Amino acid sequence: MKLGIVIPCYNEEEVLAETKKHIEKLINKMIEENEISKDSFICFVDDGSKDKTWDIIEEFSKNSPNFKGIKLSRNFGHQNALIAGLMQLKDSVDALISMDADLQDDISVIKQFVAKYKEGYEVVYGVREDRSKDTTFKRATAEAFYKFQDFMGIESISNHADYRLLSKKALNALAEFKEINLFIRGVIPLIGFRSCSIYYARGERFAGESKYPFKKMLFFALDGIASFSIVPLRIITVIGFFIFLFSLFIILWILCEKFLLGSTIQGWSSVMISIYLMGGIQVMSIGIIGEYVGRVFQQSKGRPRYIIDREI
Ligand code: UDP
Ligand code: MG
Repeated sequence: MKLGIVIPCYNEEEVLAETKKHIEKLINKMIEENEISKDSFICFVDDGSKDKTWDIIEEFSKNSPNFKGIKLSRNFGHQNALIAGLMQLKDSVDALISMDADLQDDISVIKQFVAKYKEGYEVVYGVREDRSKDTTFKRATAEAFYKFQDFMGIESISNHADYRLLSKKALNALAEFKEINLFIRGVIPLIGFRSCSIYYARGERFAGESKYPFKKMLFFALDGIASFSIVPLRIITVIGFFIFLFSLFIILWILCEKFLLGSTIQGWSSVMISIYLMGGIQVMSIGIIGEYVGRVFQQSKGRPRYIIDREI
């Protein structure tokens, strides 16, 4: 079985040497034990890093035949870098494993991934069982996100990020998804096939800092919702309908006030409240609709999700 490991990297000069050391050891051992073929490899995808990341990747591939590299022409973001690696390499392997460069995901479970593949699973999810090493903030926001996704009717695997094995069959299915606002972990359950999860404890990033600042995380979460669910649009419709019903009563009340009771000048507060309330709801609704229109706009342009500069 020929295995490939795809690792997107963005400004990861501080961690690459260490990551290489660990993963090389593991791969060599697996080759020795005949679990994977000799031509299995590790491919780093440089996502337009501004530091020495690409030079380091080049160095690796010069010194060892098991290391490859793909350099993107600029920073396309984690998901696009990952899809670039998966799509470029899928035809030359039996299965690909994707993981982060910072060794936060326990690499010793790769053996179990491969064992599951051999049992006939096409998709093997790595699931973080223990996130105690993550910051409280990251844990809390992640948890809220999974709950919200669930509420929106999106099928997802909680606490699974992008650490997984995909067989060639699964990769070919993934290639059929041409989405621009890519949220890979949301697409994978949609391709079906036999799948299972492997549990592990998530570690700490051992050097450098997270390449996912809060803003990136927020927009990523938005992709994860708006690319998979039209529930937000439905909520707007429902809210609008109830406001409409409510306004019928209000109209009735106003007419009564005017014609039966004759006491109209009053109600500064009710006017103010409704202006602000309605204004808020309208702007929010337009915003949500805009999110979807924006996606249609981006998709209709059909721009490439990644552009490759060099491959080694
Ligand atoms: N990454 C990338 N492009 C980006 C941002 C991140 O390729 O624009 C890579 C990064 O190098 C790492 C992985 O995505 O291998 C996950 O990033 P990180 O570990 O910083 O995220 P966190 O673990 O904090 O969620
Ligand atoms: Mg990380």
